[in-house]
Amino acid sequence: MAKKTPKQALTYTRANGYEKLSPAESKKLEAVCTEYRDFLGKAKTERKAHDEAIELLEAAGFQDLDGLIRGGAALKPGDKVFRSCAGKTVLAAVLGQQPLERGLHIVGGHTDSPRLDVKQNPLYESGEMALLDTHYYGGIRKYQWVAMPLALHGVFVKPDGKKITIAIGEEPGDPVFCITDLLPHLAADQGKKTLAESHDGENLDVLVGSMPSKDKKAKEKIKLRVLELLHERYGVTEEDFLSAELEFVPAGPPREAGIDRSLIIGYGQDDRVCAYAALRALLDLPGTPRYSSCVLLCDKEEIGSVGATGMYSNFFENTVSEMLALCGGAYSELVLKRALENSWMLSADVNALFDPLFAGVSEKKNAAMLNQGTCLTKYTGARGKSGASDASAEFVAQIRRIFKRAGVVWQAAELGKVDQGGGGTIAYLMARYGMNVVDCGVALLSMHAPWEVSGKFDIYMTYKGFLAFLKDGRNAK
Ligand code: MN
Ligand code: MN
Repeated sequence: MAKKTPKQALTYTRANGYEKLSPAESKKLEAVCTEYRDFLGKAKTERKAHDEAIELLEAAGFQDLDGLIRGGAALKPGDKVFRSCAGKTVLAAVLGQQPLERGLHIVGGHTDSPRLDVKQNPLYESGEMALLDTHYYGGIRKYQWVAMPLALHGVFVKPDGKKITIAIGEEPGDPVFCITDLLPHLAADQGKKTLAESHDGENLDVLVGSMPSKDKKAKEKIKLRVLELLHERYGVTEEDFLSAELEFVPAGPPREAGIDRSLIIGYGQDDRVCAYAALRALLDLPGTPRYSSCVLLCDKEEIGSVGATGMYSNFFENTVSEMLALCGGAYSELVLKRALENSWMLSADVNALFDPLFAGVSEKKNAAMLNQGTCLTKYTGARGKSGASDASAEFVAQIRRIFKRAGVVWQAAELGKVDQGGGGTIAYLMARYGMNVVDCGVALLSMHAPWEVSGKFDIYMTYKGFLAFLKDGRNAK
C-alpha cells in the first residue's frame, strides 16, 4: 500500500515571502537593495552600466581577458576574467573545476533601457527657444515622457578619437531639461486622439535653452548661445553632434517607495535590476564553482538585440573561444560547440507584476505577484506562443531543485493573459546553441515607464536565485 500523503503536500500555494523571512535575511535584503540603488543611480545609460560593472569586477580581482590574450596567459580553474565589447556590453566569468567543454552556467541580462536619443543633426531654434531633436529608443509610451525633468548623458567623439563624456542633470545643483506638454485648456483636439497618437514621436524634442547670444550679427541667437556654452564647457561644435551618442533619461536617483520602504522606484530597472543581481551574484560567488560561471550584461535588447553589441553578434561565442584557447588543450570549433550546447542559462530579464489597477490584462494564477519572489518565465512570445523561447520541463525541474535547496522564493509567471500581448528576451538567441535556457528575473510595475517600480523582496530573491544557479553543480551524472 502506498504511504498516505499529507494533505498540504497535494496543494500548491503562493504566498507573500516577507512572512517567512528571517531577521538575518532581512538584513541581507536591505544591504543588497541599497547597493543596487547605488548602482542604478550611477548606471543611467548602457555605457555607464558597463563602466560601473567593470569597476566592481576589477575591484574584485577580475582581469581583462583582452590583456591576458595579448600576454599569452593561461587560464586555470578559479581564474576571474571579464571582456568588454565596445564599451557597452560586458561578459564576466569565473573558471570552474570542470573544463569549459562541459558547459558554462550563464546568467545574462541587458543594460540598455528605453530612452530618447539625440539625433545626429539635432539643434534648432523656434519660438524663442533652443531645442534638441530626438529619436526614441525602445518601446516607450510617448505621453509618459513629457513634462518631467530629464538628464542628458553620453559622448561626443572627435575625428581624432578624443572622447568627451557629458552628464547634465544628475547632481543636485545641475540644470535639467524637459519636453513640454499641452495645457488642458487647449487640449481639446489632442484629447480626442488615442493614447498612442496623443504625442507625435517627431515632436519629442527637448527644450535646452532660451537666452540669446551677445553676437549681434547672428541669425539664430538662442541656438548660438547653446553652442557657445557647449564649446566653452566641452570644446565641442555643432558638427560634433554627427559623431555623438547622447541620451535623454529621467533625471535623478532611484528612491525607496512606500511608507514601509519595501519598493524601489527608479529609471532603467528593465533590465538593470536583473543585470545588477547577476553581477552581484558573480561577485559573491564563493571559491571555485564546479562549472564555469558566466555573467553577460548586454546592450540593444530593447531594439531586438541587433548590432555589434547586441546578443545577435558573435561577441559571446568569440569570447568563449578565447577562453577555450587560453585554457590549454587543442582549440577546435567542435569543442566550442560542445561548450555552448552543454551550457545552462538563466535569461535574466524582467516580467510584469500583477497590477490591481489593470487587473484585466493578467490571468491571476499565472501572473507575477509582488513579494512572491523571483519570477521564472517558462515561455515568452505572443498569441499562440509565437516567437517564444519555451524552456523544457526537464530544465525547469532542475531550476526548481536548485532554488529549493538554496531556499530561494520564486514564482512561475507568464507575461499577460492569453492574446493580450507578449514579449521576448535574449533567451531565444542563446537557445540557438542548443543550450538549456529559461527566463528568470524581477517582475516590475510600470515597466518601460520613466520611473519603474520593483519590490525589494523580489530583487533579493532574484540575486539569491542567480547565486544558487551559478554555484550549484548540477546533478552528478
Ligand atoms: Mn528587458
Ligand atoms: Mn524591456
